[in-house]
Amino acid sequence: MIRQFKKAVQSTNNMIIIENKLSYSSDTLVMGAGLAGLTTAYQLAKSGRHVMMIEKNKQVGGLARTINENGFRFDLGGHRFITQDKVVDDFVKTILNGDYLVVPRTSKILLDNKYFHYPLKPMNSILSLGAKKSLKVLVEYLSERIKKKITGKQPDCLEDWVIQQFGKTMFELYFKDYSEKVWGIDCKHIAKEWIVQRIQGLSLGAAIKNALCNKNDDKYTTLVDRFIYPHKGIGAIADNLCAHIASQNEVLTGTSLLRLNHAGNKIKNAVVKQGNKNKIIEAQDYVSSIPVSALVSCLNPAPPGKIQQAVKKLRYRSLLLVTIMLDQDRVTDQTWIYFPEKNIPFGRIHEPTNWSAKMAPPGKTLLVAEYFCFEHDAIWHDPDEQLTGLTIRQLHKLHLIDKHNVLGARVIRVPYAYPLFETGFQQYYELIADYLAQFDNLFLTGRTGKFKYYNMDHTIGSGMEVAQHILQKNRVADENRQYGKIVEGAGL
Ligand SMILES: Cc1cc2nc3c(=O)[nH]c(=O)nc-3n(C[C@H](O)[C@H](O)[C@H](O)COP(=O)(O)OP(=O)(O)OC[C@H]3O[C@@H](n4cnc5c(N)ncnc54)[C@H](O)[C@@H]3O)c2cc1C
Repeated sequence: MIRQFKKAVQSTNNMIIIENKLSYSSDTLVMGAGLAGLTTAYQLAKSGRHVMMIEKNKQVGGLARTINENGFRFDLGGHRFITQDKVVDDFVKTILNGDYLVVPRTSKILLDNKYFHYPLKPMNSILSLGAKKSLKVLVEYLSERIKKKITGKQPDCLEDWVIQQFGKTMFELYFKDYSEKVWGIDCKHIAKEWIVQRIQGLSLGAAIKNALCNKNDDKYTTLVDRFIYPHKGIGAIADNLCAHIASQNEVLTGTSLLRLNHAGNKIKNAVVKQGNKNKIIEAQDYVSSIPVSALVSCLNPAPPGKIQQAVKKLRYRSLLLVTIMLDQDRVTDQTWIYFPEKNIPFGRIHEPTNWSAKMAPPGKTLLVAEYFCFEHDAIWHDPDEQLTGLTIRQLHKLHLIDKHNVLGARVIRVPYAYPLFETGFQQYYELIADYLAQFDNLFLTGRTGKFKYYNMDHTIGSGMEVAQHILQKNRVADENRQYGKIVEGAGL
């Protein structure tokens, strides 16, 4: 699969580069070893196709990897696995081979110095408002219902949707600040596509009905209160997939896509960078799970100007994690705690030892604080020591930790954490997707790859779909070749 050759490649800036590199060839090149890319590679490899994977990070798993810092383990924001897709559920349980726990979810949100159950149980939150405000909420809710019936108006941004479902007071009290903290934009600019993927179906009416009947509604995944979690962190899914793939195939970590050379309607080869060496990989099929904007910027020749403009309109929200290791057994009994208020710099914390006791050495624990930001924000560039100090002071102020118990800290910057669903983004994504669809051996998959708000189960499903598609395409091609041979033979 490996050969040495000398080749002239035209770069995007039209200079001729002579590349004399180790070159690989494979049936399929999978770019990005997050859960989407790994699932595709696993399925293809299982069906006997040779796969090469490239992954920019030293570790596989992408957003769903677990960091191990001297026995203190944490995900990039705690990752719970839940799904309503039986095929994906069976797949993950098989990959984990029994090495998981079923964990109850209990989360809180801090509002006005009071902790509330989260996701909000609207009955509980209404009752905590006092009689006057509760009445106002109910009146607003009923008037929104009537307004909707009369006008039939469909909301097209998060703000309108929440107001229609819960009323203005509930929106301002419970939704506005947290959403704006996560997304960094006004709720009026958060597109309805986010609602469709995340919170569709939730309403005050449904919540009141559930509260009165005292039942949990598993129909809405946001409300599910038990989940699967591997003993040593969510990264086990990616690590196990990778081990299967790598037994017969190549997984190149610390390797980034530099250029994707194309001609006609085909991708011809990929130039990748591993350390200070460039390499060329040729494949029959190419699967991309890297951010779609990164993919487009690697195309050679470069795409038309309108595609390059469209790519600039697709923004991603980044995540900055500050993990504090502690010399104490436990801090909270919660899965997550949410902090919507703007005077608290992070948006959410989790304590991995509440997910699995094996996430820290015995008698120790850790807290992971999530800061949502853009890469152009000042905080993204702040030195690690400054971020650590800020986090410790804030946790201390919240009476969560005693700073004398701090053993250490680790800061991780996660680019491309969330596709940003700004109103109007869909038309730009469609333009790009249509352009990329001209390449009949290029397939997009995954959350960043398809600019979809996928959770792990959707991501895995998307990886499976691409693998099925490639297998089917090649099966048809093989059958046609076989049929061609028979027809040729018949004349002899
Ligand atoms: C804070 C947070 C919490 C979450 N919590 C949950 C949860 O509780 N439950 C749940 O189901 N889901 C959760 N998710 C979603 C879940 O993480 C994603 O659905 C899933 O991990 C996406 O996988 P992916 O393979 O599509 O993308 P990614 O994981 O982003 O993988 C893409 C890979 O491509 C690599 N790459 C990028 N550029 C290049 C390049 N040029 N060359 C080579 N490689 C490159 C990246 O390094 C990365 O490894 C959460 C996400 C976040 C951000």
